[in-house]
Amino acid sequence: MQESVTNLSQKYFNKIVELRHTIHMYPELEFEEYNTGNLVCEIFDKAGIAYERNIAKTGIIALIEGRKKTQRKKQCVLLRADMDALPVQEETGLSYASKRAGKMHACGHDGHTAGLVGAALILNDLRDHIEGCVKLMFQPAEEGSGGAKPMIEAGVLENPRVDAVFGCHLWGPLLENTAQICSGELMAGVDVFELEFQGRGGHGAHPHTTIDPIVMAAKFISDVQCVISRSLKPVDAGVITIGKIQAGTTFNIIPQNAFLQGTVRYLNEENQKLLQNSIENIAKAIAMQFGGKFKLEYKKEYPPLINDEKMANIARKAFAKLIGNENIITQAKPDMGAEDFAFLTQAKQGAYVFLGISKDLNNPTLHHSSTFCWNDENLKLLMQGYTLMALEFLHS
Ligand SMILES: [Zn+2]
Ligand SMILES: [Zn+2]
Repeated sequence: MQESVTNLSQKYFNKIVELRHTIHMYPELEFEEYNTGNLVCEIFDKAGIAYERNIAKTGIIALIEGRKKTQRKKQCVLLRADMDALPVQEETGLSYASKRAGKMHACGHDGHTAGLVGAALILNDLRDHIEGCVKLMFQPAEEGSGGAKPMIEAGVLENPRVDAVFGCHLWGPLLENTAQICSGELMAGVDVFELEFQGRGGHGAHPHTTIDPIVMAAKFISDVQCVISRSLKPVDAGVITIGKIQAGTTFNIIPQNAFLQGTVRYLNEENQKLLQNSIENIAKAIAMQFGGKFKLEYKKEYPPLINDEKMANIARKAFAKLIGNENIITQAKPDMGAEDFAFLTQAKQGAYVFLGISKDLNNPTLHHSSTFCWNDENLKLLMQGYTLMALEFLHS
């Protein structure tokens, strides 16, 4: 079977490279991935692959049903790719560089989409040898507000019911032809908050007649640092970052309000509660101390991304056939960035794989930068990897 997968990946390679280049030239931002979807569906139409589109605006679900008879209970595995680009002005000078000003595939999602189409074509040719079925999920908006959750809410994990989920990210911090497949905590959960301190404005020379929201905000920023250093277990990871502060108009006026925006990162729900409660308690205590008020809007965005141990093993077996066990990293510290594949691993057992694209780790490929680029050859490994993970799950 693996030989067929390799041969078919050769057969479809040029088509998939062409698809990647076209997607790269015409990048689309979150929830605008209509043309990208057209390109994917055009290929599926020609290949006779069934799909449903416009799920959560621009998402696509394709289904490949295996025809091999089996006594075992038939299973369904989902493979996922993200389709969105970023608001970055491309400066790579590539022949297939973005033709859209201020938009660029600077994270590799053009490759994920093309690679998963490649896997779909390979799996479709192998239908007679497949037990169970494979769902292919092309989601919008990984970078921004998240397309995975609305697609799950639209029912993509049902009819047929999905038993396991796998995803891949082309990854700059790793060398080409290496992969990182860990089990357990992989990426952080992320919350965002907006905090407003409400005081009483007045003359800068008469602070005693005012309630100064700038001082409240400053105290909050300083006090909140102690949550990570004093309340969180020293061996646990967590982040509280204030990324925005806004208050006042000029030097001699104490304003009425001060606004803060921040992000919170954690690796488990217990710490999520600790961090959220601490932020609220500190804001409350400061408002009380100064005689002012506060308004906190706290929102959970993505949960932590956790790889299931069994599914990580299946992914390792699949990639070991392509690059050898020695090129798979199985132990690594989690990254405090976030990834909405986490909604899929929260709902179903699954694993997320990082696949290297750098040629030199002293000068690695940087995601989200205007010069982000990687070699098309990596698409071969990506499409074969997706395919073999599905087969390994269905047949093991
Ligand atoms: Zn990204
Ligand atoms: Zn990405």
